[in-house]
This record gives sequence, structure tokens and C-alpha cells, in this order.
Amino acid sequence: MTNDRLYNTDAIILRRRDFGEADRLLTVYTPHRGKLRLVAKGVRKTKSKKAGHIELFTHAALQVAAGRNLDILTQADTVQAYRALREDLDKISHAYYLVELVDKFTEEHDPSYPIFELLALTLARLADGSPNEQFLALRFMEIHILGLTGFQPQLFLCVDCGTQIQPEENFFHISGGGVLCPACGAHHPHAEPISLGVLKVLRFLQTRPWEQIAGVQLKADTRRAVENLLLRYITFTLEKRLKSVDFLRKLRKDS
Ligand SMILES: [Zn+2]
Repeated sequence: MTNDRLYNTDAIILRRRDFGEADRLLTVYTPHRGKLRLVAKGVRKTKSKKAGHIELFTHAALQVAAGRNLDILTQADTVQAYRALREDLDKISHAYYLVELVDKFTEEHDPSYPIFELLALTLARLADGSPNEQFLALRFMEIHILGLTGFQPQLFLCVDCGTQIQPEENFFHISGGGVLCPACGAHHPHAEPISLGVLKVLRFLQTRPWEQIAGVQLKADTRRAVENLLLRYITFTLEKRLKSVDFLRKLRKDS
């Protein structure tokens, strides 16, 4: 038997669930193949050598056999365990949220190296960063995964009239995809005011490299407002995305 059907890939474990008697079904994100679902056979048996290398959040080097329905994991070795993530409840819950974001924003077999890189870097920042760095790393991830999947919020031009946003109190329109100038926002039923401070933080996260962001200290109310706005933007975007994915699936089925 030739090994044409075998391939090697790095992967970060996003999800795992029990499958059959002793197997696990893994959802992983890879650098060049995107999101994949794999069967890890026999890993719930005590003798399994693979089991320790496919814990959640682990970055592993995998060998996989392409299958007719599901690909099968044949070998796994830990590249980076992010051990510090598992020693702290806050870090664990942040890491869960992070892998869930990647899982929900991506489709199988749709590779994006920048998403893989961002995921790996954010796991490291959550594992080793101070609480402030962990907060900023998650917001950085949120705003960049939006950008990398085509949902980048517009923070520089009014989404209604296109004029450049000035340094004053403006409005934000979640379903419109970004900021509104004061003139457009004032008579828009679903616009909400956005302070200059919050807008500046969002722009900073969107345009600056991590090295400049990592040391930023935010006031408690700015911090809460940024987190809250991003969470609502992401929730809205995911609902819209799920609807469009369902719609595309239905189209394909019908055609
Ligand atoms: Zn406007």
C-alpha cells in the first residue's frame, strides 16, 4: 500500500467530542488546509500514545490519512502545549472563547494562514500574558478575525455618507457595519453614540501591531464599552454569517 493518502500538518485543536466506543472526533485548525474534522481512533483507551498530544488548545504536528468520509489521525506530537493556559480558570475560559471564535468564523477546507498565525499567537498571549494583556489579546483577535473573514468594521468613514470621521462624538451602527458621522447618526433609529475614547481604542486595535498594543492601559469604563461593543458586533455578524452559510448550502442543494 502506498502512502499517497497520508499527509502531515500542524494543527491547533479547537474542539473534541467522543465518537463511537473509544474514538474522538476532532475539529482542528491548520496553517494550509484550514479547518478540518478528523477521527482520532482509540484515544480514549488508557494505552493510547496519541491522547496527550490532542488535548484542547494544543498545537500539534499531525499525520493524517485521507478517508472517504472523514480523515483519520495516524500520529500526533505536541509542538506547543500552552501549559500555563490550563492552570488558571480565567485563562481556560478565554481560550475556550478564542477557539470558539475561530470555529464559528471559519468553514472547513478554507485555508487562511493569517488566521492560524493569529490563533497561535493569541493562545501564547493568553497563556503568558498579564490579565491586561489577555484582555487586549482577545479584543485584538476579535477585530482581526472580523477583518480576515470579510466583516471588518468601518472605523474611518461614515458608513452612510462616506465622509471622514472627525475626532468628536460619533455614532456606531452595528448592522450598518461601522461608524456614522454626527449628522447621519442623529436621525438613524438604530445608531448608538460612540465616544472618541472607544473609537480610538478600536482603531488602534485594528491598525497597530501587537507590540504597540500590548502595553496600553485602559480606563475601566472604556474597557467595558470596547468589550461590549465588540461582543455585540460579533454576535450580530455571526448570526448574519450563519444565515448566509445556510442560504448558500440550500442553494447548492437545490442546484
Ligand atoms: Zn455621514
